[in-house]
Formats: sequence, structure tokens, C-alpha cells
Amino acid sequence: MKTTDSPDQAPPRRRRRPRATAAAAAPAEIRLAGDATVRGVAIGPAMLVLESPAPDIDATARTDDPDHELARLAEAIERSVRQIERLRDRLAILPEDGQIEIGSLLEVYRRMLGPSRLQRGIHDRIVRDGRTAELAVREETESLAQALLSDGAASGGEDAAAAQRRAGEFREIGQRLVRNLGRTPFRSFSAVPPGTVLVAEQLRPADAALIDPSRIVAVATEEGGSTDHTAIMLRALGIPTVLAAHGLTARARDGATMVVDGTTGQVVIDPGEETLAIARRGVAEHARERQALGRLRRLPARLTSGEKLQLQANLELPAELPLVAQSGASGIGLLRTEFLFMNAETMPDEDRQAAIYAEIIGTMAGDTTTIRVVDWGGEKHSEALERAGLHQEGDTINPALGMRGLRLLLRYPAVLETQFAAILKASVAGPVRVMLPMVTVVHELREAREIYHRVARRLRRKGLPLGDSLPPLGIMVETPAAALMGDALAQEAEFLAIGTNDLTMYTLAVDRASADVASLYHPLHPAVLRLIQAVTEAALRQYRPISLCGEIAGDPRVVPLLVGLGLRSFSMTASAVPRVKKVVRALSFEDCRRLAHRVMEASDVAEVTSLIDDFATGS
Ligand code: PEP
Ligand code: MG
Repeated sequence: MKTTDSPDQAPPRRRRRPRATAAAAAPAEIRLAGDATVRGVAIGPAMLVLESPAPDIDATARTDDPDHELARLAEAIERSVRQIERLRDRLAILPEDGQIEIGSLLEVYRRMLGPSRLQRGIHDRIVRDGRTAELAVREETESLAQALLSDGAASGGEDAAAAQRRAGEFREIGQRLVRNLGRTPFRSFSAVPPGTVLVAEQLRPADAALIDPSRIVAVATEEGGSTDHTAIMLRALGIPTVLAAHGLTARARDGATMVVDGTTGQVVIDPGEETLAIARRGVAEHARERQALGRLRRLPARLTSGEKLQLQANLELPAELPLVAQSGASGIGLLRTEFLFMNAETMPDEDRQAAIYAEIIGTMAGDTTTIRVVDWGGEKHSEALERAGLHQEGDTINPALGMRGLRLLLRYPAVLETQFAAILKASVAGPVRVMLPMVTVVHELREAREIYHRVARRLRRKGLPLGDSLPPLGIMVETPAAALMGDALAQEAEFLAIGTNDLTMYTLAVDRASADVASLYHPLHPAVLRLIQAVTEAALRQYRPISLCGEIAGDPRVVPLLVGLGLRSFSMTASAVPRVKKVVRALSFEDCRRLAHRVMEASDVAEVTSLIDDFATGS
């Protein structure tokens, strides 16, 4: 096999095909079950790829020449950065859905390789403890990973899953550095024959960036899970995938025909005729579905009864911008600015923030960008913000009920002032709105507005051409208090956005990140729906724009209900826009209204779910 678009990559080691047995009878079909990770079915010859083993590291090795080790480390970092940049250059050839996830992850890796706690730790281990560069890298990345895992395990639920992912990121960067220190080659999937089913023990997230979806039709692995980074990326690439199919690598052979059904989680090795016929129908159906969604991107989100909806994108990282542009989203309904403060030791200053916002606003080419000022506190921590003095009180027993979001910003207004100033500076690049997180009472909005106007006056005095009216200042409705006070808030906020992720948590008293109570977390609980209805009607009475930007906005089953409750604007993860658009283009407002009417009489989640499911299936 030819490999080598990059000197850093070596051909994957392929497992040798076992010798043919005397009788040439067709092998019996082998079925394995794994995690259904990426929808779709594919058929193709297997290629097993195993990584050449990572170099051994001598745990007892010490150096008496730390400068030499530091120089080797610097070189390995430089090589790693170059590799990551090359991976980033390859993003353009990936389907747009893939660019977002992989781009975001590469950005995280890039930051880790910049001045970071990781680098400081490695440096200290070399200089202070006399470790070799390899050992220092391994010890430091492992210690950061372990610290994350034990914090995550203590919190449980989504936190544990997020900690697993973050720990994986540290280990991945550690392995990359160690390989580069020893010049051990990486595997490459770039020259595999078209139509291949990739079979591996495990895929690292960075491997996903090497996968060319025009050559690899499916992925099946022995390990991994459907919520890890690799899974998220393969989902973005749209390659049918089954992860964690135990027994796979022992039983699959190079060249064996495989069926991978990412919708059911089945992997079949040496499928029989009947299985193949079913799989072929699945392949055709999947291709038709993707094509139809692609065509929708350019069409308006209009109901059959004529009303036009606004479908916007939620953005967590600038790397997602290409996908937003291609998803058919009409603007950004929620730019979460926390990314600016993550993996950073210092706060980005006003000019740097302004440049980042201006770039995003400029890319949206006239569509509005809604920038939410940083929503920190609760369970989220940032070194940069904590160093800037923005931290919660030590005695908070329930962090979600303590200093968080706007409360925290008003307690330490310098961060808010900087962010307002940066957004106002960037606002000359195009239409923008400013959004405040976690508002509970009207006076918080008033206080923030005063700061906003004060910052604007200062900038005007300095000659910034801000025009007569400032970008609209609006609020997120994420607490029952805000939803119930919708009229009062809508008189003073220039727009409202319902954040159902937190609204559900605060209404039902159920932690959104806890596995223990996950079965009680229901954004479709009638209590949550009543608050959505109340605040939507309040906003409409006050002629204020209102949207919904929680996760349910991207659920095509739920959107008809939300339309029936009076909402016309939704912001969701960019990849959900085409699916939601497909559904709304087949809806009439009258049908949505009738659905909402029936749902609002329901007294429990089961009833609500069954009503919306019946509506979705037309029964
Ligand atoms: C929400 O709470 O619904 C929301 C959109 O904000 P986040 O998920 O960032 O807390
Ligand atoms: Mg929220």
C-alpha cells in the first residue's frame, strides 16, 4: 500500500491474511454487536489497521543535561504543531460536517502545545526532577489526565464523560510528543483503496482527520464509545460507524467482506446473500436521505401555510464557522464565548476579543451574530477567569445556584466591561446582538445595561463610530423566575432567547450534568412547556423578538410543538439545521397550533412524548 503524503506517517501495519483452508466453502457469517455511533449502512472489504507500537519509555532514566532535553522537547513541540497544522489544511477536503468537529479538536490540541499548564509541567519535570523529555511528557500528561478523571468520576454523569474526553486529549498530545521525540511514525489512512471498511482496535480523534470519506465507507472498532471525541468526529464526517464491537479484530480479516450498520450497531463479517441484500437496500436509502438534506440547505424554512421561520446556529468555537455557513443557518443565534477563556492562562484582552468577534461577524456576511457574554461559574472553571479574580465563593454548596453567569459578571464587572467593549468595537463589522446569560431579576439587566452604555460612551469619546443605536442588548431566559417575569423583562430587554437546557434544570430541580438524576431531566415536562409558553406570549405581547436556543431547538420532533406555542426563531447545533428545515417545510401552522393545544393539556412527560411522536409519524 502506498502512503505518504506526509513524512510523519507510516503505513498502518496490516494483519496478515490467514492461510486458506483446504475446503473453499464460503465462511459462515459472523455477527457482532457494538455501539451504533454514526447512522447509515456500508458494505466493503475490511482493512485492519494496527498502529506501530509507541516507543517504550524508561521510567528510571534521568538526565544531567536538562538543556538538551528542553531543546529536544522544543523541537518535538514544533513538529507536533506543524503536523496539526497540516491536518488542519486537510480539513477543506472533508465534508463540511466533518470540518467542524475536527477543526475544533485540532484547535484544542494547538492550544495545548502553546504556552499552557501542560508545557509548564513538562518543563518543571525536566529541570527540577531531571526527567528525560519523554518521561516528563508521559508523567505530566498522565497526571493531568488522572486529575481530570478523578474530578469527573466525583461529579459523575456528563462531567465524567467530558473528563474522559479531556483526559483523552492530554494523552493524545502526550503520545504525539513522545512519538515526535523518538521520530516514531504515525499511521496514515490516506491511500487506502476506495470502498474500504476500516477495522481498528481503537481510533484516536486525530486519526479521524486522516480519514478520507471518499475512500473509507465505514469504520468499525473494537474499543471506544459513542460519546467520545472519535465518535463525535466520525459522526461529523458522516461515515457509518460501529464502535466497541468486542471480538472484532480477532475475527475480521483483511479483505473479508463486511457490513457495518451504524444505525443498529451490527457488524457482519462474511455476510450471507440475504444479509447482503438487506444491507444494499440500507445503503441506497441512506444515500437518498443525505442527498435530500443537502438540497434543502438553500431553501427557506417556510411552513406550508406561508409563515417563515428563522433557523440559526449555536457556535461554540470559531472552527465551526464553515459548517454554519454551509448548513443553511441564517445567522448565529448563540455564540458561546466561553471558548475564549478555556485552556488559557490569561484573559484575552479587548483588542484580541474584538478581532475574534469581528472575524466571526464578518464571516456571517450580513446575517446577525448573537454574542453571549461569558457564562461562567456553576460547574465550569477557567484558569484565565480565576486568575482574573472571577471565581465563586468558597462556601457555595450548590454551584448552579451560586455565583454564575450574569451574577458573577456583575460581581466582577471588569470582565463584562472588556467583553462589551470588544463586542462594540467588532460591531462595525456587521450586525450583532449582545446577550446576557442567567438573568433572574430585572435589576440585573438594568445594571448590565448601565455598564453597556457606559462602555459605549467611553468608546464614542475615543472616536469609535458607533452610530445612534447600539447593538440590541437581550437576555437568556434560563430560570423560572425570568420566564414568569417575561412581561417585565421584555419591556427592558431588546430580545429574549429561551435556554431550555438550564430552564429544565432549574424548573425540575434536576442537575443537567448528573447521571443519577438523568432520568428525571425532561425538557418536555409540562412545567417547562408552560414556562416556554408564558415567556413566548409575554415577548409577543411586548413585540420583542424571542427565540429558543436550548438543545430541543435542534430536535425535529419537538419543533412543531414549539411553533405551535408561538415561536418562530430557533438556534441549534449547525448540523441539525437541514433536518429541522426538512420537517418545518412540511408543517402548517394550524396543525402545529392544534398539536400545542393538545400537548398543553397533558399532565406528564409520557403523554407529551406520545403526542409529539404521533404527530411526527402522522398517526
Ligand atoms: C441553555 O441553557 O439552554 C443554553 C443554551 O445555554 P448553555 O447550554 O450554554 O448553558
Ligand atoms: Mg444555559
